[in-house]
Amino acid sequence: MRYSEMFLPTVREVPSDAEVISHQLMIRAGMIRKLTTGIYSVLPLGYRTVKKVEQIIREEMDGAGAQEVYLPAVQPAELWEESGRWKFYGKELLRFKDRHNRECCIGPTHEEVITDLVRNEVKTYRQLPRNLYQIQTKFRDEVRPRFGVMRCREFDMKDAYSFDADEKGADLSYEKMFKAYTRIFSRVGLNFRPVEADSGNIGGAYSHEFMVLADTGEDALAFCSACEYAANLEKAEIAKPAALQIDPSQFKALETIHTPNVRTIEEVSAFLGVTPQDIVKTLIFVADGKAVAVLIRGDEEVNEAKLRNFLGADAVELATDDIVLAATNSPKGFAGAIGIKADVYADYSLMNRVNVVMGANREDYHVKNANLGRDYGVKAFADLRIVKESDSCPRCGKPVRFARGIEVGHVFKLGTKYSKAMKATFLDRDGKEKFMIMGCYGIGVGRTVAAAIEQQHDAQGILWPMSIAPFHVIIIPVNVKDENIAKAGEELYRELEEAGLEVLLDDRDERAGVKFNDADLIGIPVRVTIGPKSLAAGNLEIRMRKTGEMKTIPVKEARAFIKDLVKGELKSLNDPNH
Ligand SMILES: [Zn+2]
Repeated sequence: MRYSEMFLPTVREVPSDAEVISHQLMIRAGMIRKLTTGIYSVLPLGYRTVKKVEQIIREEMDGAGAQEVYLPAVQPAELWEESGRWKFYGKELLRFKDRHNRECCIGPTHEEVITDLVRNEVKTYRQLPRNLYQIQTKFRDEVRPRFGVMRCREFDMKDAYSFDADEKGADLSYEKMFKAYTRIFSRVGLNFRPVEADSGNIGGAYSHEFMVLADTGEDALAFCSACEYAANLEKAEIAKPAALQIDPSQFKALETIHTPNVRTIEEVSAFLGVTPQDIVKTLIFVADGKAVAVLIRGDEEVNEAKLRNFLGADAVELATDDIVLAATNSPKGFAGAIGIKADVYADYSLMNRVNVVMGANREDYHVKNANLGRDYGVKAFADLRIVKESDSCPRCGKPVRFARGIEVGHVFKLGTKYSKAMKATFLDRDGKEKFMIMGCYGIGVGRTVAAAIEQQHDAQGILWPMSIAPFHVIIIPVNVKDENIAKAGEELYRELEEAGLEVLLDDRDERAGVKFNDADLIGIPVRVTIGPKSLAAGNLEIRMRKTGEMKTIPVKEARAFIKDLVKGELKSLNDPNH
């Protein structure tokens, strides 16, 4: 491609409405333009990268036995009513009526459509398993679209859905997708981690998010410094302590202390001269309409997602003042476990603690030396707190670390949530009618491109991995009015294209500085400069965008050298063991 002919409008200034670097660079590099809030046009340079990401996805999905389909963007409301999501999906679902007054939506995801397709065609276990995927436009009417294509309203997504006859098969389908995703993101050239994710309230299901590690990431994750364990902060587990061992001979006498207006952990700790670790915080939650008390060490925080999963509840929220009053006979700030009118659950961190401080369930009073068994009971101990960077890995015991990440993919074992709601059944080999077991697997295509930029850029612009770079090589003849230089540029351009490389020839009549700046901005991995001095000596200059490494190469050797360079890098990215 000749730069002079390419629709490639680069911008020098940082756009004022772009908060994150990927958004800024995609605008500046002429990859995207905004049409309206959260909706973007993809320009030729951007689309070259998008198509490369899609191609890698297709190859790996096909390689894992999935088959490509293309499902409609417009979906009828009836299917969403069947799954129950018409009511619950909320305003993110763009709904409208057609001319016959039939309710429709633009698909934000395709579980309903695919389940309908498969239930109509698949009748027996012989037709299973099946895995169907598509790369298609979705629409989610985000409240606050931002960060360019990272959180936009209309976007391209690869979504795959697996259907299996039994749990074993469903686990295998999940594993195949997990492996395919690992290969996809390796080939795209990203530093990523699959992390265990909270699967919400869908019983029995599990999921992993594929996170691209970047300081600017929206999500926080915890990962082990020694083993493979990684999870998002909502999900990150804390190791269960050794068995409950309390020695009642250590128990001191229970004291009730007047603590006027002393409510918070800090106030109690200052007033009584104890550390926050000596205090038990009692929090009242409402889980599916029922009050429950959660005990946690004064310096820890309750993880509501863990509590919800542990209780198997649909919704968990902090109790209102009147519910606290009903459970504790006192206003907020004086709750404790002794005599409380609610089921009591305690975090593992309290398992072996004796002589603790807690609220007295009486206004302006706390108790000292409260002890489990003697003074209060606990229905169960569980992992209910938010992980901290000082915690140890639940798998191997080594320290955990925190990092920030951008979610680019999600694999999810759905189980029978949709097949039950939509009656997607098959006849098993025992002649019984059973529900298909499903999984769903998404990759945000535009997000993957943006994440690659967030992770790999410098002050001058983008640093594309070779596999998704819009071009492999950019040739810069520094002065196209110089006949020899222009001719050398044209020749190398033809030779490299013949060798199967993707080349951008900057044949514009611009100053060298302008060309270099644009080349750095759009991030082409290999830059070849043809200048008067080096050409007179029979050489050209090669500069690697990522490392800045420069090499002077004889013109005659350039073709073979550059070809080896590009193919070598592509090969190392495509290597399955990479
Ligand atoms: Zn570990």
